[in-house]
Amino acid sequence: MKKMELSLQETKEMFMYVAEQMIASKELLTEADMVIGDGDHGIGMAKGFTAVREKLNGDEFTSLDEICKTVGFALMMSIGGASGAIFGTLYQGAAKSLTGQTTFTATALSTMLESGLDAVKVRGKSKPGDKTMVDALEPAATASKACLSLHLGEALSVATEAARLGMEKTKEMVATMGRAKSLGERSLGHPDPGAISTHLILNFMTEYVKGV
Ligand code: ADP
Ligand code: MG
Repeated sequence: MKKMELSLQETKEMFMYVAEQMIASKELLTEADMVIGDGDHGIGMAKGFTAVREKLNGDEFTSLDEICKTVGFALMMSIGGASGAIFGTLYQGAAKSLTGQTTFTATALSTMLESGLDAVKVRGKSKPGDKTMVDALEPAATASKACLSLHLGEALSVATEAARLGMEKTKEMVATMGRAKSLGERSLGHPDPGAISTHLILNFMTEYVKGV
């Protein structure tokens, strides 16, 4: 909890840990998408993060933006469909704010979430309240802006909790984007699978940072 920042090598290890845990979350995400979508979200994320692990393992990196770009590209190329584009865009958008940086700090977390969110909104044309991952990502990005002087682990905890609350709120929303939109009112009462993934990604980042 007391670490101010991660080195480049530790940041790569953090994303490797996130990938491993997202693969392990396959069933949970599949079940969430079976209720309000077409049931493929767990499969897609597991496939995507398997590709992420392979790419990260095989490459050497000299800056944070290279790591994020690699993660985004691996997700985009391996998942396909709506969430491949959306989650790939999240990391590629995040990369744009990290050019040349070599340490991951609370400030880097905040700029990364903010520029990732902007890119997703442009690409997905989704706005808050549409019952998508944006409803977890936007509160996390906003919360992280108030945490710039905190230790990285603390900033991540705050962003994760904001994402969790945002994800919980998607239960009260009716889906208007993606496959779940055909369910309309029947999506009420259930959280959005992509919002669950967004919360999980931040949660696993927090777990890693607390452990180093
Ligand atoms: P698909 O919708 O192709 O079946 P997944 O089931 O893997 O893909 O992912 C669905 C998730 O992707 C949704 O729960 C939602 O959070 C996210 N999503 C889909 N379309 C958009 C969009 N236009 N903007 C933001 N997020 C989106
Ligand atoms: Mg789906």
